[in-house]
Amino acid sequence: MNQPFSKCEHCGDVHAIVLQEQRRKNSVVVGYTQCPVCQHRAVFSVITPQIRDLQKRIRSVKNQYAKAKRLKKGERLLAEYGRLKERIGLLMQPLIDQANEELNQ
Ligand SMILES: [Zn+2]
Repeated sequence: MNQPFSKCEHCGDVHAIVLQEQRRKNSVVVGYTQCPVCQHRAVFSVITPQIRDLQKRIRSVKNQYAKAKRLKKGERLLAEYGRLKERIGLLMQPLIDQANEELNQ
């Protein structure tokens, strides 16, 4: 289970996590939490249409993996899952860094 509390990296306040979303143009959605004390925002995800698409594929691979009966197929799906996850991470990290800067100006 996820820990429902978070510690602010800016002022150290510990508070219940409240997830916020900011919708931007071109179907981009920025997910972040905001500290109730110092208002510092911490971005945890930036979803672009391309990333949304990869997430759909990753869900489909997960479903196929759950149903896979042959070991070979399972291994292939697992490798694909790893590749998709890595690609999402590589695409998302610079967007998260950028959004963090924008939201904390
Ligand atoms: Zn804070």
